[in-house]
Amino acid sequence: MSKITMSTPLVEINGDEMTRIIWDYIKEHLILPYVDLKTEYYDLSLPERDKTDDQITVAAAEAIKKYRVGVKCATITPNAQRVEEYNLKRMYKSPNGTIRAILDGTVFRAPIIVSCIKPFVRPWVKPITIARHAYGDIYKCQEFRVPTSGKAEIKFTAENGEVLYNETVFDFKTPGVLMGMYNKDDSIISFARACFNYALSTKQDLWFSTKDTISKKYDHTFKDLFQEVYEKEYKADFETHGLEYFYTLIDDAVARVMRSEGGFIWACKNYDGDVMSDMVASAFGSLAMMTSVLVSPDGNFEYEAAHGTVTRHYYKHLKGEETSTNSMATLFAWTGALKKRGELDNNQALVDYANKMEQAALTTIESGYVTKDLASLVELENIHILNTEGFILKIKEFFDTMA
Ligand code: NAP
Ligand code: MG
Repeated sequence: MSKITMSTPLVEINGDEMTRIIWDYIKEHLILPYVDLKTEYYDLSLPERDKTDDQITVAAAEAIKKYRVGVKCATITPNAQRVEEYNLKRMYKSPNGTIRAILDGTVFRAPIIVSCIKPFVRPWVKPITIARHAYGDIYKCQEFRVPTSGKAEIKFTAENGEVLYNETVFDFKTPGVLMGMYNKDDSIISFARACFNYALSTKQDLWFSTKDTISKKYDHTFKDLFQEVYEKEYKADFETHGLEYFYTLIDDAVARVMRSEGGFIWACKNYDGDVMSDMVASAFGSLAMMTSVLVSPDGNFEYEAAHGTVTRHYYKHLKGEETSTNSMATLFAWTGALKKRGELDNNQALVDYANKMEQAALTTIESGYVTKDLASLVELENIHILNTEGFILKIKEFFDTMA
């Protein structure tokens, strides 16, 4: 059988620890036998980032801008212990944060659904994708512990020196807490565009929710900007594809999400998205079954697993002990990226291959072949727990028998 060819490369971003081991198995067993893989390769493992003073991370992000599609392995975000472990020159920032800042992207997280893992929320049968606005609000705030009675004020001085606002926030008679936070129109508009584009590209409805009834300026601005972007830039396309943009108060959204069957994108402000993505992930079963894609407003895509480098398993692996690490999310990052590459290049064979590989992986689990983390979640009579490589080889077996 001849291999599928690619006209344009994909940006391949390797990473650390157990996910780096999985990376090689996936390529060796599930991709290279079928695809004449063309990638531009960036090694973001911690030693390489240290060697290049983290310039490799910037270069990888620039490459995604150039080629529009990338796939990334999980990477270590160093802390003090890692600085010592790897003898680093300094404590580098999170590569995901660096890449996100360069691409100005929004992160979409979606669960991988298999029929034998029942979500804890009964009506959910289709994935719910959370789009989190990863900028501003309490993540970039100034906050204080108020130690004594006194007056808290908020003041805004325009660039020309004119004081536009000077308001009392609260007259404290006792100790308390105080916070000031912000967001920016251009960031909110980018977020809106990324959400509308992603809805169109995945043919799903888009929901958006804030607390606009209480926060009549802050949250209401989010609501208004989304509506404006929708009407001006996306309404016609949404209507052509029979898609809906639906805004509702966050309380109402939460209630509706619980009763829904899923199959839509839920756009959330930064804090809401942080919390709701963990809720959705655990309600669907496992972090190891959660994919993540960074989409920039100008249409660049970076696919990855939502989980980290699975350090505990890696240390077992280093000691020569057997591991049973779930490779689904990393595999779906690869298939997601290859599918997007295929779509952009009109390469139907590549799209078909990626869809078939995803189907083979789902069938593997639905036939009872699982990694250890899924053993207690899967509702099947007979299950077989495989090791890390064995699970990937089983997917290959199913793939090879499929038409
Ligand atoms: P983690 O790698 O997601 O793993 C936490 C635990 O979740 C694991 O110990 C394992 O539980 C379970 N788990 C996660 N993925 C799994 C998989 N594919 N298969 C089976 N079990 C899985 O999080 P962490 O241990 O907090 O972080 C490790 C490193 O990853 C850190 O250095 C962190 O900076 C980095 N990180 C990177 C990213 C990224 O690149 N996107 C994201 C998060 C964290 P058991 O041990 O109970 O089996
Ligand atoms: Mg969270």
